[in-house]
Amino acid sequence: MASGEVTNGGPPAAQPADDVATARRRMGEEQLVARGIKDPRVLEAMGALPRHHFVDPALLARAYGDHALPTAEGQTISQPYIVARMLELAALEAHHRVLEVGTGTGYQAALLARPVEHVFSIERLPRLMSGARSRLDALGIRNVTLRLGDGSLGWREFAPYDRVLVAAAAPRVPDALREQLGERGLLVIPVGGSQYQHLEVWSRSADGQWGHQRYGECRFVPLVGEDAWRREPGET
Ligand code: SAH
Repeated sequence: MASGEVTNGGPPAAQPADDVATARRRMGEEQLVARGIKDPRVLEAMGALPRHHFVDPALLARAYGDHALPTAEGQTISQPYIVARMLELAALEAHHRVLEVGTGTGYQAALLARPVEHVFSIERLPRLMSGARSRLDALGIRNVTLRLGDGSLGWREFAPYDRVLVAAAAPRVPDALREQLGERGLLVIPVGGSQYQHLEVWSRSADGQWGHQRYGECRFVPLVGEDAWRREPGET
């Protein structure tokens, strides 16, 4: 394989370490920096974390491609640019305690874990949760606490959070997530219908006032829960 090229197919063993490093660097330059991602903490984390550890071995050659990829249980690992955009909009700082809803593979949780103090992440599907746990353990990431549950209700035990990031499409902002956001907190969430959504950032000022801004279009799998979609599309 030519240096730096990511081809389709081929067994995992055909992807030597310097090829994935090159693919990761190109992902940073061509998908993130070229599209306006500037936050050095985001670029550092995405440049360092091996995304290929989070995808199905059969899709390894596409791990750094400009797209979402399917994961277990019909879910997805988001496109690198969308992950970067969410992390940048979250304006992360070292002392932050962050709630993530939708652990999935654990990729975004692992990225969040680099610049912030602690990540609390909730996933509703047991198989995904245990996969994420093994990947985070294998990478020696210790400042992420995972829980199985319905993230549309938040995670009251450790609230308030400095940042809340929702990695699944919500029909509206769940009340519990607003309640569990601390003063000067930011909540980043894709809001819209089942086909497409817009990334929204909700902010809570020190005097309790709310503001919100709407950003570009995106496409996430649904947030399924008590204060979200009540079932997956096609489920009866
Ligand atoms: N952040 C993930 C991608 C998330 S895909 C990654 O980096 O890989 C969205 C995830 O949200 C799916 O795994 C889905 O099972 C989960 N999800 C959907 N509704 C949820 C809910 N109410 N609570 C917690 N997780 C939920």
